[in-house]
Amino acid sequence: MDAIVDGLVAIIHYTLKNDAGEVLDSSKGGDALPYLHGASNIVPGLERELVGLAIGDAKEVLVQPEDGYGVVNPDMIQEVPRSAFPEDAEVEPGSQFMMEGEGGQGIPVWVTQATESTVTIDGNHPLAGEKLHFSIKVEGLRAPTDEEKAHGHPHGLTGTESHH
Ligand code: ZN
Repeated sequence: MDAIVDGLVAIIHYTLKNDAGEVLDSSKGGDALPYLHGASNIVPGLERELVGLAIGDAKEVLVQPEDGYGVVNPDMIQEVPRSAFPEDAEVEPGSQFMMEGEGGQGIPVWVTQATESTVTIDGNHPLAGEKLHFSIKVEGLRAPTDEEKAHGHPHGLTGTESHH
């Protein structure tokens, strides 16, 4: 178990920057992130590039939008009446709602603009269309517990954390 392969829990520190060099997210200063390799816990363009890395290895990975959070689909941007939202809902840029899709499935949408009468919602992920610049350092590698295997995701750094 000395390199990242499918089925192992890898524990990584990461910093994510956009194309402009702004830090969007980072594990620095906190716990490293455990993920189950090969289970799509992280974006595909990153997962692919981490295969074969060992503990202590560091890597810079550039992920194109189509291998990250997707390209921006203009059809997923819609203007809807304010009355489509519950009276007491906080509807302002950045608010997230679950909309019901045609098959009844929940679709997360983000509010990008809101006036008294209309609200613009965007079903694209906020990072859709972004090139993702990851700096990765591998901190740990371990076999998953049976429960983690069954769930398809790690339960904390050691596999013993309870669920949230
Ligand atoms: Zn679980």
